[in-house]
Amino acid sequence: MLANLNDVLYPAKKNHYAVGLFNAVDIELARGIIAAAESTQSPVIMGTAEVLFPYGPLDEVSYYLLPMARKASVPVVVHLDHGLDKETCLKALDLGFTSIMYDCSTDPYEVNVEKVREMAEIAHQRGATIEGELGHVGDNGDGTDPTLFYTQPEMAKDFVDKTGIDALAIAVGNAHGAYKLPPKLDFERIRTIAHTVDVPLVLHGGSGLTDYDFKRAIQEGISKVNIFTDINVAAVEGEFRRFNSMEKGIIDLIPAAVEAVKQEASKKMTLFGSCGHASDGKRAALAHQHAEKEADIEKITRLVIEAMQNDQK
Ligand SMILES: [Zn+2]
Repeated sequence: MLANLNDVLYPAKKNHYAVGLFNAVDIELARGIIAAAESTQSPVIMGTAEVLFPYGPLDEVSYYLLPMARKASVPVVVHLDHGLDKETCLKALDLGFTSIMYDCSTDPYEVNVEKVREMAEIAHQRGATIEGELGHVGDNGDGTDPTLFYTQPEMAKDFVDKTGIDALAIAVGNAHGAYKLPPKLDFERIRTIAHTVDVPLVLHGGSGLTDYDFKRAIQEGISKVNIFTDINVAAVEGEFRRFNSMEKGIIDLIPAAVEAVKQEASKKMTLFGSCGHASDGKRAALAHQHAEKEADIEKITRLVIEAMQNDQK
């Protein structure tokens, strides 16, 4: 069933587990992710990021993500990861995404606050949730010193208060992509931020962290972990193991990719402690679904009245 971030992250925060966000740029990834969530009875967040649009345009991805989320037996949030401009975020909301991240973390602080505050208002009007980022999670190998961009706890509180966001992505030694050197997370900082702000915290750049890193980060206050590289690689490894002759077709490789993604995502869900917690978010997701239906009825009624009025003119 379709859910938003609040539905799944507040129970996670309260019970000290984390919900994974797995980006699904094609339908095999989406099938593997949902299969993992259903078999482990985990809530899950599934989506795509603006930098991944070349591999799966936003509208095309929405054509399978939303129906698959609605059909799933567990709560599934359909989330835009790293929306970089306003139009992209609006388009995702129009397509029915239940959650967006508006990443203005490279803008000056006041600009980040203003842009995210405005978008939070729009998202909330539509019953969707929004994630912001403060500090900046860079890319592995981009040559910058990550400590310069670590999230400052007091600033984080000010940011959350002023923007009204539902979840906050923090920079604590994590980075996107594959790590060249073993990452060193600042667990102290995670704990301090978690005690300073009320909203759930998000850890980006999860692929390549050790099991200890994940467990400790979640224990200190992380409620959402973003994973892409690990399932991206797992899909190809699965296909590679199956591919042993040019006689094979794509239909031989599809099940291998789905299964490999399912295995990898299940492993992460076990590590994050979300297994067996699907029912935590169910009640909220059901209420949400009900509101969505009511809103639909209202919208249809309004359109019918408008059409009738136009006919009479
Ligand atoms: Zn990220």
